Amino acid sequence: MALESRLRDVENRLEQACSRSGRRREDVRIIAVTKYVSTATAEAVVRAGVTHIGENRWPDAKAKWEALGDQAVFHYIGSLQTNKVKDVIGKFDYIHSLDRLSLAEAIQKRAQALDLTVSCLLQVNVSGELSKHGLEPGAVRPLLEELRRFDRIKPIGLMTMAPYESESEETRPVFRALRQLRDELNASSVLDEPLTELSMGMSNDFEVAVEEGATWVRLGTVLVGKEEIEEG
Ligand SMILES: *Cc1c(COP(=O)(O)O)cnc(C)c1O
Repeated sequence: MALESRLRDVENRLEQACSRSGRRREDVRIIAVTKYVSTATAEAVVRAGVTHIGENRWPDAKAKWEALGDQAVFHYIGSLQTNKVKDVIGKFDYIHSLDRLSLAEAIQKRAQALDLTVSCLLQVNVSGELSKHGLEPGAVRPLLEELRRFDRIKPIGLMTMAPYESESEETRPVFRALRQLRDELNASSVLDEPLTELSMGMSNDFEVAVEEGATWVRLGTVLVGKEEIEEG
């Protein structure tokens, strides 16, 4: 399928998920996850009007950032090693994978050196799968408390990945739990400003995530497809 028809299909499905759940379409934004595709395809996605790009490894993202850094907003969605922070901060406007204090320290230091503030989402391992990164839900609040010391980090929301399910409906409890956690944190005194963002939903389960309150869906295969790439 061509990119335009995939985009149209995704749009229809997003609109339907919004209307089923009484949400406004403009409250859900698409991040095109381009890790499986070439720079040329990433450029086509941006030309088609999807100007938020998600990547999960800097070596793969580099060529795309060099081509599109001034036209698109870049989201870092993969697990981030502390020694890679210097490559990423200053290029990616959003970090979706903040999950530990040592990483926060590295981001703070780098952001200070570059004199900027980084918008971060805390990654939560709601399902408890051992293969998944992220904080256990009970560890989110203590980390947010620590983050109050870091003036270069702005916590704006939570991110999760649901386990792969052949029936996407089965992911609903994961997404619902992330929203409830966000609402509890916002009702507590731990934050000066509320967490507004929920980064959840991928190709396989984005409609359920939208019904449960996603503000960012991270779409790879369903939107941009998958290619054999040999670059970077
Ligand atoms: C790869 C990836 C996605 C997109 O995956 P698809 O299933 O192809 O949509 C979304 N989020 C994260 C964190 C990823 O690593």
